Amino acid sequence: MTAPLNVTVPLVVGFDLDLTLVDSHERIISAYIRALGDLGVQVSAEELTPHLGMPLSDTAVAVGAAVDADALVLRYRHYYDEPDAPRTLEMPGALEALRCVRAAGGRTVVVSAKFTPAVHKALAEAGLTDLVDAAYGELFARDKATALLSEGTTIYVGDHPGDMAAAHAAGAYAVGVTTGANDEAALLAAGADLTVADLDAFTAWLPAHVGMSGPALRLWA
Ligand SMILES: [Mg+2]
Repeated sequence: MTAPLNVTVPLVVGFDLDLTLVDSHERIISAYIRALGDLGVQVSAEELTPHLGMPLSDTAVAVGAAVDADALVLRYRHYYDEPDAPRTLEMPGALEALRCVRAAGGRTVVVSAKFTPAVHKALAEAGLTDLVDAAYGELFARDKATALLSEGTTIYVGDHPGDMAAAHAAGAYAVGVTTGANDEAALLAAGADLTVADLDAFTAWLPAHVGMSGPALRLWA
């Protein structure tokens, strides 16, 4: 008789930033509209919203703005960092989600497409810095897998199909959260292993999937 395979892996949970852990929606939209306006392109918040979460220049292409990418980035960062820019808030349940990973003996990692200094600023403004063990910026979609792999990430939580692709590329369990522009069907189609309506649902789900003796995950299937 063979003993059951008792495989344990350390719990490392990665989170996307925008519309997963923090809401900098208003701030992003405002910076985009002003930056594109400087370059002679008028766009509305409604036009921009479905394309958030991508690199700046990709969003510009998506809304049909033929602008110089470097000029756009420069102006966008200027407006994004203005002291009177709309505040970045924590998404509902973000604090509890990070805490529950720690309580389960795990580490927390943030991997975002955002400019790296803006990642740290957003976490600080949302009051989440102390609950994040490592943060990476300037990685989009599958590129996020490099950071996820280097941190040994076991679960990655995000609101974008690119986040699901990154999770799979890194061999992590992909959790899609529908607090961004993508619904359950879009996230499942992109390979989500699980979708949740918000981070409170993630916090409710996690403990039952973590082993009793420390940071070990049960097998998914
Ligand atoms: Mg996002």
